[in-house]
Amino acid sequence: MKPRACLIIEHIEGNLRECSFELATLAHTDFLRNSYDWLAIIAGCNVEQTATRFAEKTGIHVIVLHNGALAQFSGEGYCRAYASAITALAPAIVFASHTPLSCDAAPAIAVECNMEFISSVQNISFEHGTLIASRELFHGKIKEEIAINTPAVCTIMPGALPVFNRAESLGKVLVRTIDIGTISSVPGAVSRSPQSGIELSEAEVIVSAGRGVGKSEHMTHIRNLASLFARSAIGGSRAACDMGLVDYGFQIGMTGKSVAPKLYLACGISGSAQHIAGMKNSRTIVAINRDEGAPIFQIADVGVVDEIETFVPVFIDVCSQTGNQH
Ligand SMILES: Cc1cc2nc3c(=O)[nH]c(=O)nc-3n(C[C@H](O)[C@H](O)[C@H](O)COP(=O)(O)OP(=O)(O)OC[C@H]3O[C@@H](n4cnc5c(N)ncnc54)[C@H](O)[C@@H]3O)c2cc1C
Repeated sequence: MKPRACLIIEHIEGNLRECSFELATLAHTDFLRNSYDWLAIIAGCNVEQTATRFAEKTGIHVIVLHNGALAQFSGEGYCRAYASAITALAPAIVFASHTPLSCDAAPAIAVECNMEFISSVQNISFEHGTLIASRELFHGKIKEEIAINTPAVCTIMPGALPVFNRAESLGKVLVRTIDIGTISSVPGAVSRSPQSGIELSEAEVIVSAGRGVGKSEHMTHIRNLASLFARSAIGGSRAACDMGLVDYGFQIGMTGKSVAPKLYLACGISGSAQHIAGMKNSRTIVAINRDEGAPIFQIADVGVVDEIETFVPVFIDVCSQTGNQH
């Protein structure tokens, strides 16, 4: 019998998060598909339909951990649900996304289930019969490869793996009502960030504002640019956040979020090491900056030397005229 591998899949109010489909890629990677029996677990209240969507798109069987107290997220409740399932299933390896939701539970699950814990993993490989987790340290200066001693829990960086959603067969869903005892932490009200739109980790395109945007009125250019793309979000450098142009929850960089979208548009961002640490894994980087010596151009795939307020409206106009929206 093959050892088990388990994915922890995430949802917000029943909406699956894209990072869960990235985890599914692991289950369909040749060397991993053949080495393990794969299944996924999802905790929540009445999330069977959510689980079915995942099972249908990935072909992975899903166990739903149902309890009324899981209607609202609490680290304590979700950790108990996952830990009890993982204790019962005894997988050799558990993969979760390196997101605030999973990072709340994953280390606690590892402790509870007596498993090794490896965070911020960017890739999993298999060498000489050993599973290897690769990750970057010191903001990309050092690459570390860790031989995984199973049983282990690994959190995978969102954006590090491609999305998988084209299974050839359908996975099945099994609902289990579970006992998680009394939850002592009382979840507060959920408040949305004043900045609307999709989360940075879910966006295919990120338009990022820097100090060079200058003033809040110019953020219209950034919003208009972002609206050209269907799955886009607005982020910013710390300078832009300090200026109040972008909400701190959307700061990108060493002390902000790490992102890896398909397209990153850096607008009026100089390219400090602290900013680059958070966006260098983007697939294509376009920089718009009036200073041709700005360090951001060293990592940009496409560079535009111009003023934001001059270039962006003209670019949007041209796109509108040619119907070039994505
Ligand atoms: C411990 C520590 C942690 C940090 N963490 C982060 C972090 O997580 N994320 C982060 O971003 N920073 C972080 N910083 C701050 C970082 O060092 C930089 O100060 C910051 O990234 C600079 O932001 P910026 O590029 O928007 O601004 P600037 O460096 O001031 O660059 C502005 C750029 O805009 C260009 N520009 C100006 N006007 C225009 C215009 N009209 N049109 C086009 N271009 C124009 C300029 O040529 C310039 O290149 C951290 C710093 C420290 C010390």
